[in-house]
Amino acid sequence: MTNSTDVVRLWSATKRYGSGPRTVTALDQVTTTFTGGTFTAVMGPSGSGKSTLLHCAAGLDRVSEGKVDIDGIDLGGLGETALTLLRRDRVGFVFQAFNLVSALTAEQNVALPLRLAGREPGRADLLAALTEVGLGHRGRHRPSELSGGEQQRVAIARALITRPAVLFADEPTGALDTKTSRDVLTRLRDVVDRHGQTVVMVTHDPAAAAYADRVLLLADGRIADELHGRTGAETIAARMAALEVVAC
Ligand code: ADP
Ligand code: MG
Repeated sequence: MTNSTDVVRLWSATKRYGSGPRTVTALDQVTTTFTGGTFTAVMGPSGSGKSTLLHCAAGLDRVSEGKVDIDGIDLGGLGETALTLLRRDRVGFVFQAFNLVSALTAEQNVALPLRLAGREPGRADLLAALTEVGLGHRGRHRPSELSGGEQQRVAIARALITRPAVLFADEPTGALDTKTSRDVLTRLRDVVDRHGQTVVMVTHDPAAAAYADRVLLLADGRIADELHGRTGAETIAARMAALEVVAC
């Protein structure tokens, strides 16, 4: 199912906030790629630039220097409208807060991105999307009738309904307990294995990163370490700890 093209590429991506003596370099010349059909976890201490990397790679924010492309399209060459359209059509997002619309059912929430794009969602597609995350029977329920893990799975179905080239998730299990986190991570793993989806997930939890095919470890806005292949949580935790010792 996987394909080996690079869906997202960053070349010396640098992001600075502020100016003068107060300048913060949140991302410092990061060069990397996210290959189609792979699951990458981005880890690192608080403030190391994880969210900034995600936002720049997803076109939610622009780099100060360097280059980012998605599906071969240089984001720096796009105006605001074109960038918004590219995000809408090719990028999916899942955040720590599920951000579901409480007045709408699960099915209506999943339909939203298509409606916003002016496309009338078919019921079969909505049902298929919910079934993919194990919620085919819960389409008529509102968020308040679903557990946290189920709400996050609805958010994943909503992010995937447009068949994006890449799904970005920023601490998607940050608000969930261990068991429901596992449900969410299993579904993310599934969409990679079964549908060749590309997933990039920020997490501070080594157990969550253990679901990924690759772990990028950031420190001070740079890639400080990288683990290839499925890696156990203990090994990931040890590499994280080593980084934090160096950072002190
Ligand atoms: P992480 O997600 O790893 O905790 P972030 O990417 O949020 O880290 O932040 C990296 C650095 O950039 C931090 O020092 C943070 O304070 C700074 N930063 C992030 N966003 C902004 C912003 N909008 N304005 C100023 N500084 C910011
Ligand atoms: Mg963050």
